Amino acid sequence: MYDVAIIGGGPGGYAAALYANNFGLSVALVEKDQVGGTCLLRGCIPAKAWLQSAHVFSMVKRAGEFGVVSSEPELDWLKALERKDSVVSGLVKGLGGLLKGRGVEVINGYGALKDGGIEVTGKDLSTLRVEAANVILASGSVPRGIPGYDFDGTRIVSSDDALDWKRRPDRVAIIGGGVIGCEFASLLGDFGSEVHVFEALDQLLPEMDPDAVKTLDRSLRKKKVKINTSTIVGAPEMVDGAVRVPFGDQSVDVDAVLIAVGRAPVTDGVGLESTNAVVDRGFVEVDRATMQTAEPHLFAVGDIVAGTPQLAHAGFAEGISAITYIATGEAAPVDYNAIPLVVYTDPEVAHVGLSEAQATAQGRAVTVTSHGMRGVGRAIIQGEVGGIVKLVAETDGPILGATVSGPGAGEMIHELMYTVAWEALPAEAAAYIHAHPTVSEAIGETLLSASGRSLH
Ligand code: NAD
Repeated sequence: MYDVAIIGGGPGGYAAALYANNFGLSVALVEKDQVGGTCLLRGCIPAKAWLQSAHVFSMVKRAGEFGVVSSEPELDWLKALERKDSVVSGLVKGLGGLLKGRGVEVINGYGALKDGGIEVTGKDLSTLRVEAANVILASGSVPRGIPGYDFDGTRIVSSDDALDWKRRPDRVAIIGGGVIGCEFASLLGDFGSEVHVFEALDQLLPEMDPDAVKTLDRSLRKKKVKINTSTIVGAPEMVDGAVRVPFGDQSVDVDAVLIAVGRAPVTDGVGLESTNAVVDRGFVEVDRATMQTAEPHLFAVGDIVAGTPQLAHAGFAEGISAITYIATGEAAPVDYNAIPLVVYTDPEVAHVGLSEAQATAQGRAVTVTSHGMRGVGRAIIQGEVGGIVKLVAETDGPILGATVSGPGAGEMIHELMYTVAWEALPAEAAAYIHAHPTVSEAIGETLLSASGRSLH
């Protein structure tokens, strides 16, 4: 009998397994594939490895601007693919070692909830019963499809397939201009593919601050990405080996269509029907303070949880929260309001807390302050001045949210994460000095302006 048995070795599941060691809990982790989940095997890590190759490629193309003479760079797609794979396999191996070092028993097979424990079915169809005092379900998510566009792995693909493309597609349609759609548009645009993005709502990254999205929009258009917002595509047609994607009274012919319209929770076939857990449209309802389902010894974390963000780092935090409650009986809720979201496009776009629209919808009087990167010395030095910092503060009150777009936005957002989490007043945060010259000085300037004063 284990203290904890976990179904799913992605960020939610493996974080719970590792963290349990702090309390001396015995843990079994059931995984049907390798450990690492979507993030490590088919998501964050491989996507960012591709984006890094795209960044290097575009910087080498711009080398002349910096007085560095180089010949026109060539793309070695297979080498970039190999590098991506080696980054992934190194991290998977490292994670395996870490789990072993913490005494986690990794059981390979398909796990399903049964009679209070887990039944594991191996590849050879043999079954094994795992008994545990507590079970954490962390079965993750898969790409959603759209009617008429059935995934076939080559012409109509999900991000899982696209991360393993063996050659650069010359013409691509991306349906969905959310996080995955924008990251792929950015990297394929850098690599010189002809890219068409179709987003149903009226801007890319619909949840993000419109001014920050404008900076991304401009950069994507510079990469010759064609952006079609407020656009729903019609049913595809196969024409001369290409896929014809109709929209309005036009159409484009492409080599592949990437569907990036969100991810669906994996909760069918995991035995939830044999429990009292409440499942709403595939998502599991939990008590957000403890990650406990309606079944006291069954917890859910990660992409399957109803109403919480589908982000690897939210999964980590939920795994930690569940284990803390199991080990101590004390609730240690995740502060969802202070979880940053980073979109790793060129430029990066990052957000934390409430947007202006969300704060206003809550009936709060807010003051919005923003600062562009154009006058920021370090951004000029880096040749990346398209970006902004935007702060949303309660009028005469604390900082409620922030958005940063520009070079290193994904790193810079974390200082604003603390100001949001600690409900800092702009003047309190503005009292601290940013090193010069850094891109982060744009945050210092915005805080100063938000406190009613300004320098530059
Ligand atoms: P998403 O929810 O970010 O974006 C989906 C987009 O598709 C939305 O803008 C939506 O309006 C649009 N859409 C839906 N149906 C459409 C249709 N029929 N035609 C045109 N547009 C349509 O989802 P995603 O980009 O697939 O990402 C899935 C999840 O993974 C998200 O929760 C995302 O946050 C997460 N993720 C995060 C990162 C990161 O943190 N950098 C990276 C990748 C994915």
